[in-house]
Amino acid sequence: MTRLALLITVLLLLTATVAAQDTQIRWFGHAAFAITTPKGKVLLIDPWLSNPANPDMKAGKDPLVAVPKVDYILITHGHRDHVGDAVEIAKRTGATLICNPELAGNLVKLADFPKERAETDDIMGIGGEIQIAGGEVTVAMTPAVHSSSVFNPKAGPNEPERAYGGNPAGFVLIIKDGPTIYHSGDTAYFKDMETIGESYSIDIALLNIGGHFGMEPKMAARAAQSVKAKLAVPQHFATFPGIAPNADGFAAELKRLKITFYEMKPGETIAFRGRQLVTKR
Ligand SMILES: [Zn+2]
Repeated sequence: MTRLALLITVLLLLTATVAAQDTQIRWFGHAAFAITTPKGKVLLIDPWLSNPANPDMKAGKDPLVAVPKVDYILITHGHRDHVGDAVEIAKRTGATLICNPELAGNLVKLADFPKERAETDDIMGIGGEIQIAGGEVTVAMTPAVHSSSVFNPKAGPNEPERAYGGNPAGFVLIIKDGPTIYHSGDTAYFKDMETIGESYSIDIALLNIGGHFGMEPKMAARAAQSVKAKLAVPQHFATFPGIAPNADGFAAELKRLKITFYEMKPGETIAFRGRQLVTKR
């Protein structure tokens, strides 16, 4: 083997090692998750990082320091506990917005979301699929039965403080060499979740279980069954009064349905190698 051939072989092996990186999923509490793809792209979903369950908030730290690099911000609907810190994160990182056009337009107009990052081809509608991150991730926007409005801090005393936010949604993320992830947004249970389960092979479902504003724990377990989740992870609970204080009811119902359950702790990261869960830490 010539020296050049040896060098090329070593480079190919190194490339293969890099390509075999894990997908990491970090939970910040409530509905906020960061997903780091095998190639290192960072996607944030419903980035309310300053929620009271986030350990960084409890420690009095700036919670946005945890996400110095963000490539995409995905927002399921316009409520404040989901838009969260999206505007500040976009300003700091230059991340591209993925959500419906009405929400994107109003976030620019009413909340000063950076316009050039909110008016790209990645604005989408329910039923659509887009490719992002150079084709590494396919994003499908799925239906959600909920409401969606955007808080308008500029509203005058006689103007509504909530503007139109388009239709609420969920997301399926199909990651190349990684898992397929379903984030339910704040939806109620709907029987067409079965169609999501038939259309995509969901490795991990991040399901809102808090009740009151969305699925009660028992129906969230039924959602896990309908989307045929291989692993069900609860979110949108124990953040503020009025929603489920823990995931016990969800866990009990999943046990009855024989669906694998894992409760992440706020601040925790789990990793997938390919489509397999490899670490909980
Ligand atoms: Zn919510």
